[in-house]
Amino acid sequence: MKISQYYKFRLLPNQEQEILLNQAIGSARFVWNQILAKSFEMFSKDEYIRYETLEKNLVPLKKIPDCSFLGKTYSACLQQKIKDLAKAWLKFYNSKEHARLKENKRKPKKPKFFKLADGAEIQLRPLMPRFKKKSDGEQSFRLPFADCKVLGDRLSLPKKTGWIKFKKSQEIKGKITSVTIKKICGFWYVSFCTNREVVEPIHPSKSAIGVDLGVKKLITTSNGQVFDPINSFKTNQIKLSRLQRKQRKKVKFSQNWKKLNFKINKLHHHIANIRHDYLQKITTTLSKNHAMIAVEDLKVANMSKSANGTAENQGKNVKAKSGLNKSILDQGWGMLIGMLEYKQQWRGGLLVKVDPKYTSQTCSECGHVAKENRQTQAKFECVGCGYVANADLNASRNILSAGHAVLSVEGGCGKGRPKKQKASEIREEVA
Ligand SMILES: [Zn+2]
Repeated sequence: MKISQYYKFRLLPNQEQEILLNQAIGSARFVWNQILAKSFEMFSKDEYIRYETLEKNLVPLKKIPDCSFLGKTYSACLQQKIKDLAKAWLKFYNSKEHARLKENKRKPKKPKFFKLADGAEIQLRPLMPRFKKKSDGEQSFRLPFADCKVLGDRLSLPKKTGWIKFKKSQEIKGKITSVTIKKICGFWYVSFCTNREVVEPIHPSKSAIGVDLGVKKLITTSNGQVFDPINSFKTNQIKLSRLQRKQRKKVKFSQNWKKLNFKINKLHHHIANIRHDYLQKITTTLSKNHAMIAVEDLKVANMSKSANGTAENQGKNVKAKSGLNKSILDQGWGMLIGMLEYKQQWRGGLLVKVDPKYTSQTCSECGHVAKENRQTQAKFECVGCGYVANADLNASRNILSAGHAVLSVEGGCGKGRPKKQKASEIREEVA
């Protein structure tokens, strides 16, 4: 089995190195924007946009006297940016991506336009690549590893950048294929993309759990374990809304507005880091201990669940969630499931996604389905058999049995799942 893994570390360049890295980031962004403008011209002429045709624009661009600075940076990172751009266009041409976008039912944004050389305008459609700004929170460039070297906790890039230190918090396993340098809110990061071949793993445990995701309790498992959302999240949330309120009073794009914008981005980044770290820890715990994990399929659950959540939470203890708060939570759920997915794969376990319909209204004892079963947010009381339980626990038990049902239909050999461990081998340890 082939495993691709990313390793991300803080990068600690000195002042001179930072100048070179900033140059590379600026040049890569410049190339992206220039070639993107070219590709809009192509799009207006109904030409199919692909890497080979886009790349032809790079040499002429470098020859323009005003663009001589492009020659001063790592040339491979410019090509990589064009590759990324071609990939972005490929995404735009993929009908599945558009179908996915429709499923999510996001609010339509104000249409944006691009002015072509001949003065005509084209409307920028959803999923089309966009221009990058210097003020974007995250900027990056990528190099093939063939051009770089890693020695201990030092990284060497071409063009006499010298050895740059990074905080190596774990060993890098496998063969590094590419190196991405990122600048997020003034912090530098390096991520290594690696590949390695491993023997098909067999999960050491035989237990199975259902996992219910929620707002007040992040995770409730079918064996009664509860993971709360992180506490520091809330305090940062208050800080964030305070900054946003302040920013709203400033003139847009003024110096003070920009300063606040930077602070807001930085706080966003900080919150994201905390969340990411926490999610890594709980997903590792879950994945280590359970061979089969059943979760609700968020693609379907996403919208309905958060909408229900607010309707049910219009009570005393939970304040109405702002749009941002919700979006962060949603994002957290998606990230959590993504982590579980690859961690289970690495360990030879299974992640089963089940239909979220009625998981909160069904009685996990007798199977009776009724809205009336759910009198309050926290309590489940079956009108059929009188079974009383914590609502989240009841839901997670339903998710687990739905997971078992999915497996028995698929025979445990669904697409992309390890075939060695049969679904029938996985048994629920705790009822
Ligand atoms: Zn019942």
